Amino acid sequence: MKKHNFYAGPSILPEITKEKTAGAAINFAETGLSVMEVSHRSKEFVAVMDEAQALVKELLKVPEGYSVLFLQGGASLQFLMAPYNLMNKKAAYLNTGAWSKKAIKEAKFFGEVVEVASSADANFNYIPKGFEVPSDVDYLHITTNNTIFGTEILSDLNVSVPLLADMSSDIFSRPMDVSKYDLIYAGAQKNLGPSGATLVIVKDDALGKMERPIPTILNYKTHIDNGSMFNTPATLPVFACLQTLRWLKENGGLEAMEKTNIAKAKVLYDELDRNKLFKANIPNSEDRSLMNVTFVMTTEYAGLEKEFLEFATGKGMVGIKGHRSVGGFRASIYNAMPVESIEALVETMQEFEKMN
Ligand SMILES: *Cc1c(COP(=O)(O)O)cnc(C)c1O
Repeated sequence: MKKHNFYAGPSILPEITKEKTAGAAINFAETGLSVMEVSHRSKEFVAVMDEAQALVKELLKVPEGYSVLFLQGGASLQFLMAPYNLMNKKAAYLNTGAWSKKAIKEAKFFGEVVEVASSADANFNYIPKGFEVPSDVDYLHITTNNTIFGTEILSDLNVSVPLLADMSSDIFSRPMDVSKYDLIYAGAQKNLGPSGATLVIVKDDALGKMERPIPTILNYKTHIDNGSMFNTPATLPVFACLQTLRWLKENGGLEAMEKTNIAKAKVLYDELDRNKLFKANIPNSEDRSLMNVTFVMTTEYAGLEKEFLEFATGKGMVGIKGHRSVGGFRASIYNAMPVESIEALVETMQEFEKMN
């Protein structure tokens, strides 16, 4: 049976990414060796790193004066690396869910955190708006897509302090104005490649201003000065990321991705708004994530949750169980998710509606 992969992360990748990575696992760049067994300093691997960094710059139109890095440790390490490098005494955080909270927890090791707004009062089912950012903070940190709750900040914020963003689950899903950010980071395993690589885009001028000493490996400068090869990079994951970046470019880049992603999400949200058994978790349509669609069964049919999960599993739907902090269901529909899989989920929901 065809499997439809709605996992939130690690998650669906383009077929070509998997095929090329499988090939390079045996014979990488005609070396006769696996990408797992050649030196990261070999000319073949250096070419991979160079092209991956160049494609990130090209696809996101990264301006001059920014560096692109492929680090390890996931977005979770960036929760502390960001304040280590960019927060002297005080920083502002927008609290839009579980990942924001984890970022806030780490920042508190480095100074005072001002929570400018929070949607905790409604279990994070909306994006707070119209909040004030104190002018004396070192930066404002946001989570652009809330993978667990299914909300997304769909346009770049305008703020008068430096902006930092965890874009783990929506990077490359639409064009973004990188010049508005001092730091962008993303674990690869949602929209780019396998886990093990973390993409960092940092404004060079923002660095070097800390009063504290920064341990070598946690200093962005170290990685910039060493071409993202201060220590051994995650060679196979970076190779796989490169294949996805090439795929993004061949498929029209981020403008095309955005168009497709809007159309894809609409198929599912329209059904959730129509089907009497289900409803979208996020009431306000402008806050609804294009990447992670969270939904529940309407009060009248809430007892059918387990039954639907089994029914959908029988139809090849994988990974649609909601996160334990939200309940219900979550369909993650990242860039690589074909519209056919979303249509298959919608058909499954319609069949289940007829049965009940
Ligand atoms: C998955 C996720 C993380 C955690 O990423 P790791 O790479 O596992 O550390 C952080 N932020 C967001 C928005 C995520 O979706």
